[in-house]
Amino acid sequence: METYDSLLASVTAAPGQASRTIFDPATGEAVGEAPVHTVADLDAAVAAAAAAQPAWAAAGHEARSAALLKAADAVERSAEELARLLSREQGKPLNGPNARFEVGACAAWLRAAATTPLEPETVVDDGTTRAVLHYRPIGVVGAIGPWNWPMMITVWQIGPALRMGNTVVVKPSEYTPLSVLALIHVLNQELPEGLLTVVSGGRDVGEALATHPGVGKIMFTGSTATGKAIIRSSADTVKRLTLELGGNDAGIVLPDADPKAIAQDLFWGAFINTGQTCAALKRLYVPDSLYEAVCTELTSVAAAMPMGVGLDEANVLGPLQNRAQYEIVARLVDAARDAGARILTGGNPDTSKPGNFYPATLVADIENTNPLVTEEQFGPALPIIRYSTIEEAITMANALDVGLGASVWSPDLDAARNVAARLQAGTVWINKHGAVDPRIPFGGAKQSGYGLEFGTEGLKHLGVPQVING
Ligand code: NAD
Repeated sequence: METYDSLLASVTAAPGQASRTIFDPATGEAVGEAPVHTVADLDAAVAAAAAAQPAWAAAGHEARSAALLKAADAVERSAEELARLLSREQGKPLNGPNARFEVGACAAWLRAAATTPLEPETVVDDGTTRAVLHYRPIGVVGAIGPWNWPMMITVWQIGPALRMGNTVVVKPSEYTPLSVLALIHVLNQELPEGLLTVVSGGRDVGEALATHPGVGKIMFTGSTATGKAIIRSSADTVKRLTLELGGNDAGIVLPDADPKAIAQDLFWGAFINTGQTCAALKRLYVPDSLYEAVCTELTSVAAAMPMGVGLDEANVLGPLQNRAQYEIVARLVDAARDAGARILTGGNPDTSKPGNFYPATLVADIENTNPLVTEEQFGPALPIIRYSTIEEAITMANALDVGLGASVWSPDLDAARNVAARLQAGTVWINKHGAVDPRIPFGGAKQSGYGLEFGTEGLKHLGVPQVING
């Protein structure tokens, strides 16, 4: 049984090893010393993963699924310790849809990866031709992840990869390596040796993984800019890629919605993980007739949400994970204010206190061309844009070059679905936002990336299609 201290010790850099101090974004206190691995470490990890892969592939789906189910049990055994470390490193509170929720999702997605069916597909069988489509293991998969949901997104990448008979080398964000190292330490208590290795390094290690000749596929979640760099880096080895990139999700409230009834769900759609979520609601479009009512209801929900240090059970909102992200949010809100937008709540951080705390901020009377609308804020600041006609709302929602998620809010499901069909996004939720589900494929449109995760489609993306014709 792991304690918090034994878990932390298991991921701490060895004496003499290159390391990086990780600071708690809520307090500025040191959390731990993460190892800083090198490109030589990466080469060794890829070689070990390649050596372990044939036996893992040969073990078959049933054995691999059983191992993943045991790995999910291991996560549950150490859930509280993992959640505490995640909270201290990432900043997200234990409580609310945050650290405990994230660790719970890791177990749920591992089980889904273990139990999702994937049968060979008979494409043609007409008496003359028989063609069957199979999905074979790729080999070694590289998993490169961000700092916002570091454990959960790593599981999204590695669960299906392992299930499909691949071995995996993980490159966590340099902002949140301890969480990922700890998660993988726990998973490796149950998984056969050599399947899963973490190389905790910086961009140089990410780049080396994306160019590595021994790696057949990169699962990448992060910014659109890095996604484009990975496309370039992977070109010479023609790697397969799944790219889950940045988003700037629009939500459209239809004129028949009830502002009071939807305010809580709108709030969490935007402010889950203190706004540091890829598929969070990042721009809200509200008709003239409901504008003031939606602003008032959202303001009263936002004002009641406690923000503070993650280990305090009272809090449901936390700090920004890093100072650079704090500066982005502050710059965008200041620019909106300077342009004449109305700050309904927030927008005025208390700079006398430690930590990257930026208050939950709602911004009204803002133009659709304002940078707080057009750039991904990735933090606790939501612009609320007024519209007159639904055509205008759809045009504004589709105006950007990203399209991860979107949402439509109305009690009239047919009307909402008709609007949804016209939105350029990989997922459109109705009366909710960001509700990912391990059974349902998830991926981006436009520059939010390509490839699908989750469900049977997600498994297929971790295999090489092979047709046996005859
Ligand atoms: P980032 O792109 O800065 O970093 C992500 C990872 O890529 C890190 O591990 C980093 O070290 C690595 N990296 C950096 N440069 C690299 C290179 N040239 N080659 C290979 N690897 C490299 O992203 P971030 O700031 O950690 O995450 C925030 C972004 O991620 C936001 O835009 C957010 O919308 C997006 N995101 C998307 C999803 C999704 O599912 N679509 C989920 C979470 C986050």
